Amino acid sequence: TREIHLAQRPTALPGPETYRFVERELRELRDGDVLVENIVLTVDPYMRPRMNDVKSYVPPFKLDHALDGGAVGVVVESRSEALPVGSIVSHGLGWREHAVLAGQYAKRIELNGLPSSYFLGVLGMPGMTAWAGLFDVAGFQPGESVFVSAAAGAVGSLVGQFARLGGAERVVGSAGSAGKVALLVDELGFDAAINYRDGDVMGQVGAAFPDGFDVYFDNVGGDHLEAALEHINERGRMALCGSISGYNDPNPTGPRNMFKAVGKRLTMRGFIVGDHEHVRPEFERKVGQWLRSGELTYRETAWEGLDAMPDAFVGLLTGKNTGKAIVRLRED
Ligand code: NDP
Repeated sequence: TREIHLAQRPTALPGPETYRFVERELRELRDGDVLVENIVLTVDPYMRPRMNDVKSYVPPFKLDHALDGGAVGVVVESRSEALPVGSIVSHGLGWREHAVLAGQYAKRIELNGLPSSYFLGVLGMPGMTAWAGLFDVAGFQPGESVFVSAAAGAVGSLVGQFARLGGAERVVGSAGSAGKVALLVDELGFDAAINYRDGDVMGQVGAAFPDGFDVYFDNVGGDHLEAALEHINERGRMALCGSISGYNDPNPTGPRNMFKAVGKRLTMRGFIVGDHEHVRPEFERKVGQWLRSGELTYRETAWEGLDAMPDAFVGLLTGKNTGKAIVRLRED
């Protein structure tokens, strides 16, 4: 089987020298283990900071070891009663074709007619992130206005739609191309969108919200966070979810005048999705319902085959994806 190792720590965008493709034998199954053939793998932005050797909420990837991350696969050999051959499972050993792991680390999923990749996106970690950040962290209420950055991506596209379906007064997103701006407004039901590559993020955010906004969902940091601080309403709340504008930058920028947060009595709260499991039942029920009713639009950008992982990852970090970025190894 084949897997991808971290060969070198990148200092900017990860290139081919970052990775080593390794062919190796799978280990024998022990009692309770399963052998999973991966169907679809995910690339997520948090993997980029994990390539650096710094202490964070997840330990860094180890040099000369296989990378890991979310995956959905099918059990092809089993020594676990709970997970017979043919079970579809999600687990944490991505970046490889096959995984041998203890059954307790694999979560069985019922596809119910949905593509397996949805469990890496709208019904998986990014979906939970959008839900937890908007409702649990920012405390969004019907009638409020919401600004979200990286709005055409996996998390952002769901934040905007959850807000709209949750009764938002106005939802505006920012994204990095005219095509993405059109998608947000024409297909995902955003009230407006801005293209940050046109420049003047500060001015564009102000113009998009003549009456300000109550909630900012931050995926980007940098100039977006600075503009949000300027234009958010008094007692506004910010869910600090990510800061992708800085992930490949050794000297990330940020807001210059934090005193704005004082005068406006803002709440700015960073969060990690794993701490919000208590909202999972509600998330799964509501989002499942919106998917079945067709009220929620879900987009993916798929790359094909393990060899495409490095391209998919750079593509994600540079905005080549619309919606969730995935790498498909085989059909469902
Ligand atoms: P996305 O699908 O949104 O992909 C990343 C997007 O970021 C790209 O498509 C690109 O879109 C945009 N981007 C890249 N560079 C920049 C830049 N310099 N300025 C503005 N936008 C940029 O990824 P996810 O939805 O998976 O993740 C979104 C954010 O959420 C990330 O910051 C991630 O780290 C964070 N996150 C946090 C979690 C938590 O628990 N706190 C859990 C999951 C995700 P464009 O074309 O618009 O530039």
